[in-house]
Amino acid sequence: MTTAAILGEDLVKRYGHDRGLAGLDLDVHQGEVYGFVGPNGAGKTTTIRLIMDLLRPTSGRLEVLGLVPARDGVPLRRRVGYLGGDFVVNGRQTGAELLSYLAHLRGGVPPARVTALAERLGLDLGRRIHSLSKGNRQKLGVIQAFMHTPDLLVLDEPTSGVDVRTRHEVLHVLADLNDDGIAVVLTTHDLNGLAAHLPRLICFNRTVVADGPPRVSGHIAYRGVLPRSAVPEHLWSPSVVLWAGPKTHLVHYPLRRGELFNLVAVFHSEQYAEGWDAAADPTELHTKFAHAQPQVRELLSKIDTWKMWVLCDREPVANWTQGRITLLGDAAHPMLQYLAAGAGMAIEDAWVLARCLAHAPDRPERALLDYQNQRYLRTGRVQYTACFFGELYHASGVARDLRKQLLGTPRARGADNPMAWLYDGIE
Ligand SMILES: Cc1cc2nc3c(=O)[nH]c(=O)nc-3n(C[C@H](O)[C@H](O)[C@H](O)COP(=O)(O)OP(=O)(O)OC[C@H]3O[C@@H](n4cnc5c(N)ncnc54)[C@H](O)[C@@H]3O)c2cc1C
Repeated sequence: MTTAAILGEDLVKRYGHDRGLAGLDLDVHQGEVYGFVGPNGAGKTTTIRLIMDLLRPTSGRLEVLGLVPARDGVPLRRRVGYLGGDFVVNGRQTGAELLSYLAHLRGGVPPARVTALAERLGLDLGRRIHSLSKGNRQKLGVIQAFMHTPDLLVLDEPTSGVDVRTRHEVLHVLADLNDDGIAVVLTTHDLNGLAAHLPRLICFNRTVVADGPPRVSGHIAYRGVLPRSAVPEHLWSPSVVLWAGPKTHLVHYPLRRGELFNLVAVFHSEQYAEGWDAAADPTELHTKFAHAQPQVRELLSKIDTWKMWVLCDREPVANWTQGRITLLGDAAHPMLQYLAAGAGMAIEDAWVLARCLAHAPDRPERALLDYQNQRYLRTGRVQYTACFFGELYHASGVARDLRKQLLGTPRARGADNPMAWLYDGIE
């Protein structure tokens, strides 16, 4: 089993009103090479700087090699090799002088190791730094990061400005370090070159679909569970049962082969809270359901502890793919839960995506677009229909009569079932 080299929990970095990083979780293991990829401004370099304590997080937890960067900066630097994207050095020194100085600061490095690395990367250490090309200066940066055999390597764009041969050599050196059990994190824009050779990629991207915060539906779900023995016999049912009323509804169904009885009570409210597991206020629930059927009130009264879930969705979108990045499931098409179809849609996505990739294995960007284009009308239809059902469940007047007509009779089978388009799945 590998151990964690970097652990981050809900890391946030704000620059004034701008968010450099919005709730990043990181779990980097020893002996693994991770590439951070994504567009400019997505938070890659911010993350590197948090790891190196060049920036401090606004909130969240970060541990690097078991140390806290903001507290243990000095011991941490001894164990980390770092190449910043802005690697700048005194140009009058030779490469050998610079590396000897840095080796001394780090408690000594065998000169043979420095020479071997320079030979591998094809760098003449006798030349003054100001006479080196950008690519050769970058090689110097790579050597100073690698030479003291650190426990963790942190590299910001290590192959920026270097030629293809050097890029290969950098990759080989990384592979050797990897064999030695060292963890490596690096950022790269080089998706077809460097990133394509990395075993693990962490994608930083906050703008695949830039449509702002979730849309609050104005409906809140309270969830509670009863053991089978606490359900009165006259209220037990092995089926999914929906009790609908103006601005409220209750759904119940058995869980775990009938050991438990799940209740989801939904009502109108403008209250907002993040997440789907917040503690809830039963008084509000009983007030909202004060005029519900006696059976509903009896069931609700059986539960003391409720969890609250503010229901949100988003307006459907047609495009959730950017190049080699695409979305699946709720990330692509979040929907209200009224059709119990979110997980089903995510599974269908995976099936269609796999099929598209199998058809165009050499053209992944084409395959991702095909996948999206085959999916968005179906998932958009489910999103809109889920909103409609939410309205229908809570309706009065004509809409209530329509609900009785649609849902009040046993569900028709086959083509006569108006929901066959959804629940019969896809080819
Ligand atoms: C209470 C409840 C009941 C439901 N009942 C049904 C039902 O009966 N039928 C049905 O079809 N659907 C149901 N759904 C909907 C269904 O659960 C979702 O639509 C489905 O789980 C979506 O799958 P997903 O893979 O897209 O997203 P998720 O299941 O949400 O998976 C996303 C994963 O990504 C992780 N993640 C998020 N951010 C990061 C990050 N920055 N770094 C690393 N990891 C990250 C999350 O921790 C999570 O594990 C229900 C949902 C809820 C909440």
